[in-house]
Amino acid sequence: MKEVILLKYGEIILKGANRSRFEALLLREVKRRAARVGQFSVRYAQSTMVVEPLTDGEDMEEMYRQSKYVFGIVGITRAAVAEKDMEDIRRVARAYLPARLAGARCFRVEAKRSDKQFPLTSPELAAEIGGLILEEMPALRVDLTHPDVTVRVEIRDHAAYVHAGQEKGAGGMPLGSGGRGLLLLSGGIDSPVAGYRMARRGMTLDALYFESIPYTSELARQKVVTLARCMAEYCGRIRLHVISLTEIQEALRDRCEEDYFTLLLRRCMIRLACRMAEECGAAALVTGESLGQVASQTLAAICVTEEAADRPVLRPLIGTDKEEIVQTAREIGTFETSILPYEDCCTVFTPRHPKTQPVPEKVRAQEALLDLTALEDAAWETRFAVNADPPEL
Ligand code: ATP
Ligand code: MG
Repeated sequence: MKEVILLKYGEIILKGANRSRFEALLLREVKRRAARVGQFSVRYAQSTMVVEPLTDGEDMEEMYRQSKYVFGIVGITRAAVAEKDMEDIRRVARAYLPARLAGARCFRVEAKRSDKQFPLTSPELAAEIGGLILEEMPALRVDLTHPDVTVRVEIRDHAAYVHAGQEKGAGGMPLGSGGRGLLLLSGGIDSPVAGYRMARRGMTLDALYFESIPYTSELARQKVVTLARCMAEYCGRIRLHVISLTEIQEALRDRCEEDYFTLLLRRCMIRLACRMAEECGAAALVTGESLGQVASQTLAAICVTEEAADRPVLRPLIGTDKEEIVQTAREIGTFETSILPYEDCCTVFTPRHPKTQPVPEKVRAQEALLDLTALEDAAWETRFAVNADPPEL
């Protein structure tokens, strides 16, 4: 009996002229992952991608796991293939379903028939397969409203499929469909999650990390490389750029009012990030800010920071609680790395009483005490790129 993996991408993303572009992006992503696992053919038909192993020895478990990472896929299931003939569908259902229903107490059957030439209607087909399951597994019962497992029979143009226990896919939009953004990636919990959220909406990412050696360490940088690697599992290849803020931070410490350090630094970060975004073709910045989380994330502070940007600053976590952010960080596997206790440049020379209600004129007056252009030009020259590709990419 032949088994395949079915990936459903739903109708939402397929409207209008974008359909073929989205499908091509999805196909490319699934093929890229399939090539890592083994030999599979990948094709699509009727809002479903069919991933078919080309030999008996392919690792279906791993292919299934990989498929769960694909943005734009809303449902995923392993399925047995049958001929479009009732006799064969019965044979396959009998052989395939008992293992898939093991442990369940109740089930329902849904049938879908996109080939209207098929002699049975969908309700007839569902009743037929339901009866067959009850014969094979008499301890089970039918529950149409709260089944433990939903069995599906699909009659499609090219074949029939029998499956049970479809799971949710990663959702979102196909990677590459949402433009390019530059993620400000610190070693913290929030920014990797912010990047994940945007990638899930189709955005490809470059990342920028600011360091302040010797106040921050090589280990702190290594942690960010690990985070970018971790994210690449979902978000595709991420180019990681690094800029040193040491001189800027020392100048701020020497010449500006302490209460303004953090805000002044954040404005420098934003201006340098905009330069970097321009260089790597990113139309927007992405940060992990969440309203009210720290002094620099009050609305007034965000407004003052935003003023320094020449392009949109996307803050996908702005309305998200820390607890929810932590939950996602755990799900995407960045949490354990994020909580390693290395210092971040934002915590170097931290003011005792950071301004939470900054006055823009006052901030600009503080900036006038510095030769910002020279300082930022010098910082810009420190930039370099780090390879953050996972080994298997
Ligand atoms: P995170 O957990 O992402 O570090 P945070 O709660 O510590 O966020 P801040 O330190 O105020 O908050 O940083 C807010 C955002 O600014 C971060 O989410 C990140 O996008 C960006 N940022 C902060 N520090 C750095 C850094 N060293 N390099 C690059 N971006 C940074
Ligand atoms: Mg931080």
